[in-house]
Amino acid sequence: MKFATRAIHVGQEADPTTGATIVPIYQTSTYTQEAIGQHKGYEYSRTGNPTRTALEQCLASLEEARFGLCFSSGMGATTTVLMCLKAGDHVVASDDVYGGTYRLFQKVLTEFGLSFTFVDARDLASVKAAMTDRTKLVWLETPTNPLLRLADIPAIAAITRQHGASLCVDNTFASPYLQTPLDLGADLVVHSTTKYIGGHSDVVGGAIMTNDETWHTALKFRQNSMGATPGPFDCWLTLRGVKTLALRMKQHEINANAVAQFLRSHPLVTVVHYPGLAEHPQHELAKRQMRGFGGMISFEVVGGLDGGKQVVTRTELVALAEGLGGAESLIGHPATMTHLAIPADERRARGVTDGLIRLSVGIEDTEDLIEDLRQALAVLG
Ligand SMILES: *Cc1c(COP(=O)(O)O)cnc(C)c1O
Repeated sequence: MKFATRAIHVGQEADPTTGATIVPIYQTSTYTQEAIGQHKGYEYSRTGNPTRTALEQCLASLEEARFGLCFSSGMGATTTVLMCLKAGDHVVASDDVYGGTYRLFQKVLTEFGLSFTFVDARDLASVKAAMTDRTKLVWLETPTNPLLRLADIPAIAAITRQHGASLCVDNTFASPYLQTPLDLGADLVVHSTTKYIGGHSDVVGGAIMTNDETWHTALKFRQNSMGATPGPFDCWLTLRGVKTLALRMKQHEINANAVAQFLRSHPLVTVVHYPGLAEHPQHELAKRQMRGFGGMISFEVVGGLDGGKQVVTRTELVALAEGLGGAESLIGHPATMTHLAIPADERRARGVTDGLIRLSVGIEDTEDLIEDLRQALAVLG
């Protein structure tokens, strides 16, 4: 079965007891047993819940994985992966990971004896140089936030394998519709399902997918032990969202391409970061490892900090908000919003300039989006 069909059907057979076409919300914490230890596969809803099972099976299928596990948030999923390591282990991570991931690694997990080296993952030599005898995990995000930089998944998977470590890719920005890292050599895929997979900005969730049974067993044990599990209603909302993932990603892509073309020809926009543009330095890599370029764009405007702030507060249709991947377009100013916590010098050194604007291009009418951006940019000149 092809992707769009799997999104609608895998794990979602008609309910065996009632025939309900849509997977019911099994809003129960526990399950009545016929005799001690004699049950229908479910004992307690932290351990397992039928609505969650449906979502786990569906997401596993979309990532071309044998196994899938769902969590109460993307950070819950990320924490669960890292909890499979031991004190003394070392992790190599790309340097422009999601802010919450950076915070978890640097501020929380270092207290438990894990160590982290952050590298520019575009540069394979620096990934290689960071690997040590104690490196157990390589953590990548591709494309990244907010600069839409890519990491070469097959090349980094080969480096990881040489060192006997595992590669985990946070695939939130691409979604499984556009990129399946397990097919490219990764061992684990993590998602914030809050973004494109849920797709409606109405539910927080996370997921981990793998083909490796040893990893799956370790993760499932920790999912149950640590308890960052999603409730059945959240799973149901996510399942409802995922049915239209293919359709939505197609429209995100059409809109993002049109918006990127509009922005690059605008006189007050100095740079546009979008992997779909031929001038993106990693356009060829994007074509090789992705099936499309997604709905995220960032761009720089003239006027620095002031210019950036003015434009993001001037859009009318496009909401000023953190977050991404929903039906509605969102705009943000990383220097004063998502990346405010990073010291200014370091932030600029990483390429997050004062005039940089991040745009999650939604699935509204293309012309309406361009019109709104046109009137917002007019504030600059
Ligand atoms: C949002 C996000 C996360 C964290 O997910 P939550 O669901 O907010 O916990 C992790 N990685 C990326 C790339 C994200 O965009």
